[in-house]
Amino acid sequence: MADHDYDLFVIGAGSGGVRAARVSAMLGAKVAIAEERYLGGTCVNVGCVPKKLFVYGAHFGEDLEDARNFGWHSEAADFDWPTLRDNKTREIDRLCGIYGQLLEGAGVAVFDARATLAGAHTIRVAGGARVAGGAVTARHILIATGSWPHVPEFPGNDLVVTSNEIFHLPEFPRRALVLGGGYIAVEFAGIFAGLGAETTLAYRGDLLLRGFDEGVRRHVVAEMRARGVDVRMPAQIASVERVGEGPVRRCVFADGSVVEADLVLAATGRAPASDGLGLEAVGVRCAANGAILVDEEYRTNVPHILAIGDVIDRAQLTPVAIAEGMCVAGNLFGEGGARVGYDAIPTAVFCQPNIGTVGPTEEEARRRWPNLRVYESTFRPLKHTVSGRAERSLMKLLVDGDTDRVVAAHMCGAEAGEIIQGVAVAINAGATKAHFDATIAIHPTAAEEFVTMREPVR
Ligand code: FAD
Repeated sequence: MADHDYDLFVIGAGSGGVRAARVSAMLGAKVAIAEERYLGGTCVNVGCVPKKLFVYGAHFGEDLEDARNFGWHSEAADFDWPTLRDNKTREIDRLCGIYGQLLEGAGVAVFDARATLAGAHTIRVAGGARVAGGAVTARHILIATGSWPHVPEFPGNDLVVTSNEIFHLPEFPRRALVLGGGYIAVEFAGIFAGLGAETTLAYRGDLLLRGFDEGVRRHVVAEMRARGVDVRMPAQIASVERVGEGPVRRCVFADGSVVEADLVLAATGRAPASDGLGLEAVGVRCAANGAILVDEEYRTNVPHILAIGDVIDRAQLTPVAIAEGMCVAGNLFGEGGARVGYDAIPTAVFCQPNIGTVGPTEEEARRRWPNLRVYESTFRPLKHTVSGRAERSLMKLLVDGDTDRVVAAHMCGAEAGEIIQGVAVAINAGATKAHFDATIAIHPTAAEEFVTMREPVR
């Protein structure tokens, strides 16, 4: 487009922004992207990837214990935090480099700078040494600025850390307190406990993991408690104060109870990162929580300004941001007509054991399909019949009795995330319970339960 510097300018090089920029450039558009912090965004730097590496680290403690009854005897193993932290950082640095190469390879211009809107088609690039006048113009602008940890107001809230800091802790805490009840809180409680910290998880609501199937939520609380995590619900934080000069924090709850910890992690939600972008000046509308309002093609009310990913607050997940980025690129520079389906998004929680889920909860499914059939199995995994661990797995299939279609699958058990991905393909393809029943099991596995549950429990 001769009248603008770029066809597309993307603000934010996270999961969604990078994908939209690369695919648009591959479709022939002239594209630039600005990133103020780290290429790859939250997922690569302070989210999914480093977290999963910590989850692997946390599982080794259990694995070493479980190995004993299989004949493996080793001296007590010591956990060394700097080794895990620094090896993780090396891998993240490598991945960031790959993101840079991918963008460069696709011909995307990368600005290592903060970008804001300075006009309907004008983007101000901070420290814009590479930009004449500090600003560029673009025919389309895509906002993919992600989200930012939200810490509620309470005295001493500056004494807690968030997921932004947790990946670089100088010292591993002996006692950790996690505030929150979402998947990030639950995963970090599992990480701390698995790596040997005395761990408390305090949530202000009645049951962790709002939005997940209730049976799964109850199952996971029992499993966390069995692993020694002190799960407190409902527990509303009232204040945090320093004890002495060191890291120790005295945390007081609304009911007067007190927890002392060497580290307090607030995993209390994430807010869309839309502040200070200059949206008001160009008239882009946001919801009360800051989420940018978009239509099904991710256009804001100013149609050449689009937004995707966490900043639109539909489903704060990397694969969703990526799908939205693909959709934008295809609609702007490809064949058009692309849409993202939000109905049966599979997802996992990497606690111990994992949760894997696709489709609505039993409670929601019952409202949508009154003739719902629920198939459910709880069992002791084969491995633990010898290891001696008291862990149990839970698997559920929800079936619409009118059509026989499987509408959801929920699991809490080892490798649930890996198992549910395949089940999600079947559910998205419209598989019926008869298809599941006709599928030969893989024996002996936990996954085979999904094709061998014959009688509904409800
Ligand atoms: P982001 O990846 O956050 O990228 C936004 C980018 O924009 C950032 O790099 C930011 O620096 C940049 N930016 C912001 N403002 C500007 C500006 N004005 N100028 C220039 N650059 C700017 N999802 C999963 O699917 N699975 C998981 O297991 C998972 N685990 C998670 C664990 C944690 C601890 C966290 C915090 C998140 C996790 N997520 C997970 C969520 C996932 O990381 C996000 O949904 C995903 O990163 C959103 O992608 P995005 O492109 O919208 O934003």
